[in-house]
Amino acid sequence: MSRSPLQIGITGGIGSGKSVVCKIFNTLDIPTYDADSRAKWIMMNDKLLKKELINVFGKKTFVDNGEVNRKHLSSIIFNDKKKLSVLNNIVHPKVAEDYKVWTSNHLNHPYVIKEAALLYESGSYQLLDKIIVVTAPESLRISRTLLRDPHRSKVEIQSIISKQMPEHEKLERADYVIKNDESELLIQQVLDLHKIFSLRK
Ligand code: ATP
Repeated sequence: MSRSPLQIGITGGIGSGKSVVCKIFNTLDIPTYDADSRAKWIMMNDKLLKKELINVFGKKTFVDNGEVNRKHLSSIIFNDKKKLSVLNNIVHPKVAEDYKVWTSNHLNHPYVIKEAALLYESGSYQLLDKIIVVTAPESLRISRTLLRDPHRSKVEIQSIISKQMPEHEKLERADYVIKNDESELLIQQVLDLHKIFSLRK
């Protein structure tokens, strides 16, 4: 009889290195679920959800090719907590459902990983067994994000950071911490955690 895999969450601020860490876990044959990318995919492809979003946020929510009009949506939700919460209440349950289905397709692994920038803020951490926080100094996170996303300005990145849970709070809540500040090798830190999680519950 197969037991359900241990469910590990990976979170951290913008540019902390969550995706890089997940790629290393992938090389160890550990499946990773990128909640932010999946949310974008679901918003583009779930017809009912699309309809609901258009009802609430207007026709401009999607551009002609069906992709989410991030500029439009961001302009509505960025400074309006109520609207942000409406958006989250529409999208988060769909992502949670999608994650559940995804997990049920990966039962033959000792553990699986859910990566999300807002794991604590969204409350989805509650359904996971352990949480890893990836951390790096803010200046490094900004410079890495600027290199990765040339369309973003430093001010925009700082504004995103100011809306995320403060780093120290995430670190206080973490079960495990991965330091991505170039003081310790990432691969070794991942290997150490892999050993722990592979021993099972
Ligand atoms: P977001 O929350 O925006 O999705 P993230 O936490 O997933 O960000 P990554 O995309 O993994 O962050 O990393 C941000 C950028 O920094 C990427 O371009 C990545 O290649 C680079 N990066 C991450 N870690 C390191 C490192 N240790 N050395 C050099 N570059 C790094």
